Amino acid sequence: MRQSLVIANWKLNGDLNLIETMVSGLMASATELTSDVVICPPAIYISALRDAISTAASTAASISIGAQNCSENSSGAFTGEIAPAMLAEVGCEYVIVGHSERRSIFHESDAIIANKVNAVQQAGLTPVLCVGESLEQRENNETIDVVTAQIKAATVDVDSTKLVIAYEPVWAIGTGKTATAEQAQEVHHAIRTYLRSCMPNGDTIALLYDGSVKADNAAQLFAQDDIDGGLIGGASLNTDEFRAICSAVKG
Ligand code: PEP
Repeated sequence: MRQSLVIANWKLNGDLNLIETMVSGLMASATELTSDVVICPPAIYISALRDAISTAASTAASISIGAQNCSENSSGAFTGEIAPAMLAEVGCEYVIVGHSERRSIFHESDAIIANKVNAVQQAGLTPVLCVGESLEQRENNETIDVVTAQIKAATVDVDSTKLVIAYEPVWAIGTGKTATAEQAQEVHHAIRTYLRSCMPNGDTIALLYDGSVKADNAAQLFAQDDIDGGLIGGASLNTDEFRAICSAVKG
């Protein structure tokens, strides 16, 4: 049985007010939610999110906390960095690792991403490993090779029982362009086949689609056999839209 999961990636957006309205909005419609829900706010807001969740606590809704990034190091002279154990201490359960924006803007290599995946797991958290191809790689028919190579590089010493993978076609991130459900399923199926071939529990790793998911395309994407939910950027900043996306996952 695979976990159904929708993760909000707020990026460099949101504020204390959004935390309050998002948590109360999700809790108010808890019975409609068909998946586990994770919110990844900017790190400075993680404690406020934890407090809002515990104040609004509902037995019907499970909202977990994630971080958008972390250090590959556990302590030391790394100004501005946050260690995975620190994220665990303030209530995080998940950390997004290898997002295409971290790979391109912050020049994170496969080696750094592999270190982060391991560091996150050592702190007892679940990495949400992002993989995906550029438009050029897609046009050159390299998509499957690119994503499987990224997974291979990042999962050398991984505990595959504590891992989520998000497929993000880079050309669909924040562009309003979405992969068709068929395009997304094709890549998810290839990832699933790869995971089955090299990890004992490859069948049970949650695979999320990530790239311009909106309330009006979520159900079609999430209906695909190998898509277990989504990693949501822009649309996770609007409570009604995010709630609709969280209710579109097959239960
Ligand atoms: C993302 O960058 O993780 C993402 C899903 O963004 P968007 O939904 O805005 O394309």
